[in-house]
Amino acid sequence: MKKCLTFQKFNRTLVCAWVMLFLIVAITLTVYAEETVILIRCADPRINDACTKLFNNEERPAVISNTGSIKYFLLGERLSDLRDQIRLLVHKFGVKKLILTNHTHCGFYKELALGEEAEVTDLRDAKKKLLESFPEVEVRNYLIDTETSAFTPVE
Ligand SMILES: [Zn+2]
Repeated sequence: MKKCLTFQKFNRTLVCAWVMLFLIVAITLTVYAEETVILIRCADPRINDACTKLFNNEERPAVISNTGSIKYFLLGERLSDLRDQIRLLVHKFGVKKLILTNHTHCGFYKELALGEEAEVTDLRDAKKKLLESFPEVEVRNYLIDTETSAFTPVE
């Protein structure tokens, strides 16, 4: 009887150990299955919803946000600043994908008397320039419709 109890106890411990091991492996796989992607966006809160739809469940975004999105970085020496930020994130998280966005009715573009056409041109321009520095990273461009939260790929 005593032997049997000891055996049951041992068995329970073994089952617990297997369950723990399974959980550790499952959690590790989940964490490492997530891929960090870099999202560059305007700080405008009207595009918050649209931005959450730009990546899938396995992707976690490292967000670089400012007022003016792409145009902000194309002025002055800011593009080299952006390159430094991207370089750090690529190095730290092995980022393979970069998502560049602009959005319609952006206040920053409006202040410069620029509209949608300039937003699209800037996306293409920024993509080209960033690919020169990060040829191994995939760059995707999107123009977000601020009113409907729809987004259109820009090639
Ligand atoms: Zn904006």
